[in-house]
Amino acid sequence: MAEETTPQGPTPAAPPQAPPAAAPPAADTAPKEVKIKVRKPKQRSCDEKDAKGKLCAGHLKRWYDYPKELESKIGKDAEIYRCEFCKTLYKPDPKQMPHSYTLRY
Ligand SMILES: [Zn+2]
Repeated sequence: MAEETTPQGPTPAAPPQAPPAAAPPAADTAPKEVKIKVRKPKQRSCDEKDAKGKLCAGHLKRWYDYPKELESKIGKDAEIYRCEFCKTLYKPDPKQMPHSYTLRY
């Protein structure tokens, strides 16, 4: 029985897998220009109108995990609401901001 010695050269490393860089964000394909409105006092639904003049009336939901590019516009950990239908953003009415800074610590 002859032993065959296979030369153990440096095995060519597999080409490094490129990380999935420009992966589109999941689900939301938000347009680049985000519309940011200011909520009217007690406003709870979207008052945007579509091309046909129909009221959107989507529910405004608190949006916590907004993308980084929005941070530069509205700030970090800002209070922001988003329409569930047309994705229009709503900032809280500045007059309605609670004076609760002492409670934030
Ligand atoms: Zn809407």
